[in-house]
Amino acid sequence: MIPITKPFLPPKNEYEKYLDRIWESHWVTNMGPMASELEELLSNYLKVENLLFVTNGTIALQIAIKALDLKGEIITTPFSFVATTSSIVWEGCSPVFVEIDVDSLNIDTTKIEAAITDKTTAILATHVYGNPCDVLAIEKIAKKHSLKVIYDGAHAFGVELYGRSIFEFGDISICSLHATKLYHSGEGGLIVTKNPIVLKKLTSMRNFGFAGTEAFNELGINGKNSEFHAAMGLANFPHIPKIHNQRKKLTEAYHKGLENLSYRIPTWHDKASLNYAYFPILLESEEVILKVKEGLAKDDIYVRRYFYPSLAKVLPYLPDTEMTVTEDIAKRVLCLPLYYDLAVVEVERICQLIQKLV
Ligand SMILES: *Cc1c(COP(=O)(O)O)cnc(C)c1O
Repeated sequence: MIPITKPFLPPKNEYEKYLDRIWESHWVTNMGPMASELEELLSNYLKVENLLFVTNGTIALQIAIKALDLKGEIITTPFSFVATTSSIVWEGCSPVFVEIDVDSLNIDTTKIEAAITDKTTAILATHVYGNPCDVLAIEKIAKKHSLKVIYDGAHAFGVELYGRSIFEFGDISICSLHATKLYHSGEGGLIVTKNPIVLKKLTSMRNFGFAGTEAFNELGINGKNSEFHAAMGLANFPHIPKIHNQRKKLTEAYHKGLENLSYRIPTWHDKASLNYAYFPILLESEEVILKVKEGLAKDDIYVRRYFYPSLAKVLPYLPDTEMTVTEDIAKRVLCLPLYYDLAVVEVERICQLIQKLV
């Protein structure tokens, strides 16, 4: 069986080394020593000033919206994981969908201004598949209209843009360290901001809003992560280079294996590095997508229509919005298996099958 993804796991004894520390110290959660160690390690690795390790990427988004005190309307796209939109609704704001750009599959920055009203307070954009949004255009629009910017960088671990971490852009960037993501801590998330005042608020908010033990700064939530998750993050950390290399090799094998096929991949930002988080392909129609998906399943190979369906028409808590560009893309996109344990020969077999099915 070839699944769409398979979490990387470190050698068990390497994880156990960290578990031993928990049994010695009895420090299980609440910003323990390993959580702090992971924050420091990752902020050095990613070259970001401040970074918070939190429960998951969804809580990261919610705390980000809360810390920036956002109200009213937030501009986003329906081509993302549900958490991008649901976090906006959960925080009492209204998502306003803007179409995606057909080449990058990120928010179409030429259509943002038309969606701005006097209620708009922010733009929440996803770096889809880790491919950076046009951050300069977004920054310009945000400045002009006094909007905050949050980036959902759940897919973008390790990506650099203009030689800087992708997480340095916007008022706040978040990342997910969920087991299915490129680099993970089982469950986990990161929040990055350069603004020290916002950082202070985020730090307090992830810990119930506590100021010390008997007073409170503000409304907070439990956004902390445990030592068990930090241990997984620490144990996985040294393996990042080889995970990256293997994914690069597999991606190249896909390119080679699909050479004669008529398909398209999202256009990557030309000033950005790649992290090989996903291998999405766009085919000519939904019919072909279904043929490929069902055909591969017969061979015990599982692909995922990611992101499908478009969030503009599937969420029971939002009215349906007509988003023709996004819908067309969502119907024709497919992510192929990509994970550390996958072998090049398996990719070659997948490619041969796809050629035959199309
Ligand atoms: C995975 C993901 C999230 C949510 O992260 P969790 O850690 O699973 O809560 C948010 N946005 C996008 C784009 C994602 O892929």
